[in-house]
Amino acid sequence: MLLACYPSLSADLKGKDLDLPVLLILLLASLSLGALLAPAWWRRRQMRLASAEAFPRVQRQWLRQHWPLYRKLPSDVQLRLHKSIQKFLADKEFIGCDGFVVTPQVQLLIAAQACLLSINQPESHYPELRQILVYPDAFVVPTKHVGASGVVTERSEVRLGESWTQGQVILSWRHTQAGAAAPYDGQNLVFHEFAHQLDQLSGQANGAPPQPTLALQQRWAQQMPTLYANYCADLAAHKPRLLDSYASTNAAEFFAVAVECFFEKPAELQQDSPSLYLLLRDYFQLDPQLWNLSL
Ligand SMILES: [Zn+2]
Repeated sequence: MLLACYPSLSADLKGKDLDLPVLLILLLASLSLGALLAPAWWRRRQMRLASAEAFPRVQRQWLRQHWPLYRKLPSDVQLRLHKSIQKFLADKEFIGCDGFVVTPQVQLLIAAQACLLSINQPESHYPELRQILVYPDAFVVPTKHVGASGVVTERSEVRLGESWTQGQVILSWRHTQAGAAAPYDGQNLVFHEFAHQLDQLSGQANGAPPQPTLALQQRWAQQMPTLYANYCADLAAHKPRLLDSYASTNAAEFFAVAVECFFEKPAELQQDSPSLYLLLRDYFQLDPQLWNLSL
């Protein structure tokens, strides 16, 4: 890559006498450029090599045992999922917190669920994400709240997971396992947090992730705010709705909670809100209703 730069530089300076300082500056500039590009090149190379390998049979069997939804995936979806998992595992750093030991099985279960959401994304491995921090159970985070009078109150809040725009996802392993083991209850921590990651690709979590086409982006912009408002109104009127009440927090949580139900209760979501189901189907380019989850 560096060598490709040299011919053009030499051509531009052809016929001129290059003294030592100029050569040094050119050398330093080339080294700086190389240092800038090398990590991205290395990441891509590692992912390419990893995804070129066959997906290990032992990993397929492990997923079948510990994530029942995997068994329902059509074979073409499984194949694409395997490639995404391999890229994901080659690219991300897993960090155990509070003494938790991250094993290959921990990485696999998180990667598999995360990548199901992204297999049809232009880059299926969450390019902005660098680290996954895993706690053994729910964790406590300090928070600050500013009251109407401007008074700041410090508290501690218990969390199961978090998704940051700076390239980190934080997960409770106990709840990650529970979400995978009960795949048809509409509650999945990994789906939830990685839906936020997709949403945050637009720069902020606002329930409007970047869409594959302009037409879908326009449909999303027209329909999603109304779907969210109607959901909140139904909740306030005590009308039964499928999504957990946490979805009323804001548009970003509405999207993340809807994603959990889309993959784990697709028929129920289609019945509860056909427009919402169709938006998610077209966004993910997947149709979980066809996966016969109830059989
Ligand atoms: Zn959330």
